Amino acid sequence: MKPVVPFVSQTTGHERAVWLTALPEALSDIATVKPISDMTKAERAAARVAIVANPDVAELAHLPDLQWVHSLWAGVERLAADLPQDGPKIVRLEDPQMAETMSEAVLAWTLYLHRDMPRYAAQQHRKLWLEHPLKRPNERTVAVLGLGNLGTAAAKRLAGNGFDVCGWSRSHKEIAGIATFSGENGLAEVLSKADIVVILLPLTDATRGLVGKEALSRMPAGGSVINFARGPILDTGALTSALDQGHLSHAVLDVFDQEPLPDESPLWDHPKITILPHISAPTITATATKILAANIGRYFETGDIPAHVDRKRGY
Ligand code: NAP
Repeated sequence: MKPVVPFVSQTTGHERAVWLTALPEALSDIATVKPISDMTKAERAAARVAIVANPDVAELAHLPDLQWVHSLWAGVERLAADLPQDGPKIVRLEDPQMAETMSEAVLAWTLYLHRDMPRYAAQQHRKLWLEHPLKRPNERTVAVLGLGNLGTAAAKRLAGNGFDVCGWSRSHKEIAGIATFSGENGLAEVLSKADIVVILLPLTDATRGLVGKEALSRMPAGGSVINFARGPILDTGALTSALDQGHLSHAVLDVFDQEPLPDESPLWDHPKITILPHISAPTITATATKILAANIGRYFETGDIPAHVDRKRGY
């Protein structure tokens, strides 16, 4: 008998239907995947691993022998906040395709800022024919905050496109062609050089509000910010002040404190802010399900749980 793996998720509609087709198919050789609501009491008692996507954590309490959960998302800060420290281990999605997709998004929106697209779009509205001096990519410093799976791929792609790239992480990293920094002084240094700051940090106690008034004031005048990580890492009040005062020139935001961004948010109408609906690097079903199947299959064979979130660090 194949083990039953619960799918615990508050997703609804088309999204839920897609996962409930793709997951059982991808895991068919090793397990039966079922929504937790369809499992018998005996199946719940036997479950040691669950697949989760925005789960109601109260439902996980119905799985008494649960050792670990495999998330379908790369960001797991809500799970880490909601699950007890001694609860099941949290494995997040680490998908090379997602790193590729995110690095493409970072390059695309860096080029948007680098080639002054917001400025020329605003000029078109005013029928204004006015040329601004062109900078080459090597004259533009891009600082990537967070050099994990996504930040490293993004930094390398930017460097490959000729930008002057520096990066910042908690522990020191060596990445060919990229100046790397760590620690508080390191953050001050990368910010002070950065024409464009790209945020790719996880949301933790240490990163909440990290890019606020002080950090933004360290950036050179005319700089821009791209936040593709999590909303609360960037203080949007401090950001709009820096934009309104003319210290910064533009921001591209894909993530917000509240999502979807409420209609009444002033960010929607800010002329120096580009709003994206959390689309920079969505989970791709085809590649994610293969990774889940490999990780869960290995666990059933060897008992090895993949690298998981360090609950003290928060990521
Ligand atoms: P990751 O592999 O865990 O990398 C995180 C990086 O941030 C690491 O370099 C880490 O440093 C650094 N870091 C963590 N805390 C820090 C701190 N306090 N100070 C300095 N550096 C710190 O994560 P990832 O896979 O690259 O993903 C990053 C985030 O992107 C996710 O957490 C998620 O929120 C977000 N995301 C967004 C989207 C989207 O569509 N918008 C999609 C996927 C993911 P060390 O290297 O020293 O550990």
